[in-house]
Amino acid sequence: MPIWLVTGGAGFIGGNFVLDAVRRGNKVVNLDALTYAGNLDTLASLADHPRHVFVEGDIGDADLVKRLLDEHRPEAVINFAAESHVDRSIDGPGGFVQTNVVGTLSLLESTRDYWKALDATARDAFRFLHVSTDEVYGTLGDTGRFTETTPYAPNSPYSASKAASDHLVRAFHHTYGLPVLTTNCSNNYGPYQFPEKLIPLVIAKALAGEPLPVYGDGLNVRDWLYVGDHCDAIRTVLERGRVGETYNVGGDAERTNITVVRTICALLDARRPLADGRARESLITYVKDRPGHDRRYAIDADKLKGELGWAPTVTFDEGMARTVDWYLDNAPWVQRVLDGSYRLERIGQA
Ligand code: NAD
Repeated sequence: MPIWLVTGGAGFIGGNFVLDAVRRGNKVVNLDALTYAGNLDTLASLADHPRHVFVEGDIGDADLVKRLLDEHRPEAVINFAAESHVDRSIDGPGGFVQTNVVGTLSLLESTRDYWKALDATARDAFRFLHVSTDEVYGTLGDTGRFTETTPYAPNSPYSASKAASDHLVRAFHHTYGLPVLTTNCSNNYGPYQFPEKLIPLVIAKALAGEPLPVYGDGLNVRDWLYVGDHCDAIRTVLERGRVGETYNVGGDAERTNITVVRTICALLDARRPLADGRARESLITYVKDRPGHDRRYAIDADKLKGELGWAPTVTFDEGMARTVDWYLDNAPWVQRVLDGSYRLERIGQA
């Protein structure tokens, strides 16, 4: 099985991807800077695994990336590493530009130099897959869906920095011939998501019987995809995608934020009712809207489905039930994030 260099593999999606890849037989060199979003607890089952090498470091550290490429000779680089939270990008855009733009540029340069020095067969087989978001397309009205030809119109510092990184990836293909692929995916949910994002945040607060904050009128729409289906899509694009192409990834599961929150309330009420008997919906509290909050995202994933035969396998209702059950069954993982102790331990590092 191929060796892959995965960046950001201690985060939510990268962590799910690495666990799956190692389980399937890949060797993964996992480079992650362990920002607040990086969590080695997620990778605890891989401690001392012969096919997983964890390296704490920055994608922008060219010397380190060069050393890892030369030492491990990966057949692909898969770039998940990013600052990923829109609210944090509003408070401090600089760090988003540093990692998502400058860091990705440095990773591209290091990878290009490694790729150019490969023999012809290895050069043909090599891939750089960049994991991106549907937020680069901006916002939709009540109708329509984003396709791969929708013009970029990012509205937040986060999406602007991801858009810039997508353009650099494209440019490295057209200018230097680097065999790149880009995926633009809708909102993910599932195990190991940091509890600042809507779904795990609401689960944690609802379990504690605390107010459930909902932005604005709660009617912003996102197209939700279970993280395992996103990981399958990335693997599919990596293995069979056409070099230089971008592929949209979505779940065909548009829901308003308030629907998502009500779904979580109902699942938790059925599984673990509040001691005082209150329905959790009574905890919903509308708060001042996020500045520049995009109204609606929806993905047209027909290219990925038609060309490569991928389709989401987990429905929204099934995925939400699985996710709520995972957070109930993994309370220590959540607790160690909430009390900060997840940052104190370092396991299985090279
Ligand atoms: P995350 O914030 O959970 O994880 C990001 C990981 O990157 C963390 O482990 C962090 O430590 C690491 N990291 C940050 N800066 C780094 C740097 N300079 N060098 C090395 N590692 C660094 O993010 P996520 O939700 O797992 O998203 C992963 C990727 O997928 C991102 O590129 C994001 O833009 C994209 N994406 C996310 C979603 C979503 O719904 N979460 C949807 C579409 C696309």
